[in-house]
Amino acid sequence: MFWDINIFKDKKDILPKKEEIFIVSDFDDTIFSTQEIIKKDVRKWRRWNEWNKYIEEVLWIENFVKDYYEKKEFPNHVIKRFEKENTLILTAWFDNLQKAKIEAVWLHHFPVKVVYESKEKPFEMVKYIVEKLKFIPKEIHIFEDRPEHFIETKAELEDFLNTKIKIFLVEMKDNFSEPTIKELD
Ligand SMILES: [Mg+2]
Repeated sequence: MFWDINIFKDKKDILPKKEEIFIVSDFDDTIFSTQEIIKKDVRKWRRWNEWNKYIEEVLWIENFVKDYYEKKEFPNHVIKRFEKENTLILTAWFDNLQKAKIEAVWLHHFPVKVVYESKEKPFEMVKYIVEKLKFIPKEIHIFEDRPEHFIETKAELEDFLNTKIKIFLVEMKDNFSEPTIKELD
């Protein structure tokens, strides 16, 4: 685990358990495919380059989102499973950029949490349950195109939260065909 979830132990112990499913979903290549961007975009998303960070964050988000996200179609196979009250879009990268993308595809009425790196996601999920959801769901359903950090921490999370976690691997080809969604065991 990226940070120690045991800091939430006291708060977690007093949470009620509810017969509800909590949905946690990634955004990029789980809800919305990045294929078109990867094919067309010359900047190629040099993630660790500071100059690019400046362009992405300051100069360029608005245009980028307009070109690639606004009014674009995308499949509904993952979002149709969302529960209005019990869903978290948990996505990694720059906060401003991710929130602009999610707003452009009109999903910002769902709770959104942006972490900088994917490996922070399991910890942030627990933090959200303890501080925002404020109950232990009977099941957590995770949708991810890169679920490795949840696979690694699944047993620890289930044990800590005393609940069942199902991880669904989402594979998107593009935004025009439906993704395959496969439960991992
Ligand atoms: Mg992804």
